[in-house]
Amino acid sequence: MRTALLPEFSVVRDENRCIQCRVCERQCSFDVYSYDAGNNLMVHREENCVACQRCSVLCPTNALVIKMNDYTYRPNANWTRESISDLKKQAETGGVLLTGMGCDKPLKNYWDHILLNASQVTNPSIDPLREPMELRTRLGRKADHLEIRNGNLEVPDYPYVDLSTPIMFGAMSYGAISYNCFKSLAQAAHEVGTMFNTGEGGWPRELRKFGTNTIVQCASGRFGLDLEYFNDAAMVEIKIGQGAKPGIGGHLPGEKVSAHISQTRMIPMGSDAISPAPHHDIYSIEDLQMLVHALKEATDYRKPVSVKISAVHNAPAIASGMVRAGADIIVIDGVRGGTGAAPKILRDNVGLPIELALAAVDTRLREEGIRNWASLVCSGGIRNSSDIFKAIALGADAVYIGTAALMALGCTVCQKCYTGKCAWGITTQDPYLSKRVNPEIGTQALVNLLRAWSLEIKEMLGCAGINSIESVRGNRLQLRGIGLEDWELGVLGIRGAGQ
Ligand code: SF4
Ligand code: SF4
Repeated sequence: MRTALLPEFSVVRDENRCIQCRVCERQCSFDVYSYDAGNNLMVHREENCVACQRCSVLCPTNALVIKMNDYTYRPNANWTRESISDLKKQAETGGVLLTGMGCDKPLKNYWDHILLNASQVTNPSIDPLREPMELRTRLGRKADHLEIRNGNLEVPDYPYVDLSTPIMFGAMSYGAISYNCFKSLAQAAHEVGTMFNTGEGGWPRELRKFGTNTIVQCASGRFGLDLEYFNDAAMVEIKIGQGAKPGIGGHLPGEKVSAHISQTRMIPMGSDAISPAPHHDIYSIEDLQMLVHALKEATDYRKPVSVKISAVHNAPAIASGMVRAGADIIVIDGVRGGTGAAPKILRDNVGLPIELALAAVDTRLREEGIRNWASLVCSGGIRNSSDIFKAIALGADAVYIGTAALMALGCTVCQKCYTGKCAWGITTQDPYLSKRVNPEIGTQALVNLLRAWSLEIKEMLGCAGINSIESVRGNRLQLRGIGLEDWELGVLGIRGAGQ
């Protein structure tokens, strides 16, 4: 059947520059380019183009420009180009539309409506190039009060992890991302002194030497779990939900389950890896409590256990239950959080912006007097160091980054991760494509990113006259809202600009 879909992107080639080197043909994993030997010309099928920009970046003569196709339907505020295309795709396929990465709808981005404070005259600013600035962060339960016995400070022996900077790499499983990306994340976390999260796809044995920098996940598929898996890591995370697809599980198709992935996930080669929507042993906070304590028991009470949920309407109440169930760390993942594959309708319509959910959860835990029982980590839409600074002032102890880390490895957010054909070698198991990420170069890019953001956080601390990130935590007086309604300021717990 002839498709009624118009190509989304245009391939514009400058024939005066093109030297027919065929680099674009070799680099494109979506079969856009071919060579017409008879006419010594490159030809393209632009209906296949996903605008990943691999070809234009690598074209040696800068002959290629990928643009939005300027075809137009009659302008209509309700029937936008996207909604017409989506509907036609479904009329042709009869299927659920899949996508990758996080929600790309123009929901209000609250980070861009929050401004920071700075010292002027009455409180001196600090020069981070001359004065020490402390970014070290400890995750885990904190004591209710301190006691001094026989002249010694008595500190309860709660399990914890220490980070050199409050930025961690969020859960991205081996299977969803390539081995070289997974290894880059592990090595970078080790070099920086922070954590990377294995996601739910198991943990290859040869990477267990990075255990002190590894968080292992226990998700609904329970792939690759055994006693060693938990005990070799620094922290265990129970994944209940994920911001990009709250309320549903995951599916790694059998063709991606190679020998190494099969060994790592402990499932037969070539079989589909299905993560159910719920954990089949968790239907209440009491059930969650049993799993938290089973994991603590299995790790001899030496590892902090975190619980991750999507940012949903009743997140504050659920978070309170999670903390009371014994979670040492709670993780809230917002609606802009990324994914390898999700139904587009869920990705774009379910969940809450992390800024609102984070503030609401922190407020609730403070009101209940249990904020110190657990650390709070947020994720889903962190784009730069100021987002991190604002998140910490809203109440987070640390953040996870996912999409931002993949961008450091080459990702251009084309949203085609679910095809398994990532031209940048990131969300693919194709050996030819995966080689495009060199783990040593990838590690350096990630280390550079975390170093740059940490330096910028120190700059922001210095201009606020503060020399430790600990003094920013939950310090909402550092923030002012701009262009926000009263109810939004109320949820965020901040004043409007000028107040
Ligand atoms: S990579 Fe550039 S120069 Fe080479 S064939 Fe493609 S468009 Fe032409
Ligand atoms: S990981 Fe690859 S496929 Fe996914 S959005 Fe990034 S570039 Fe596109």
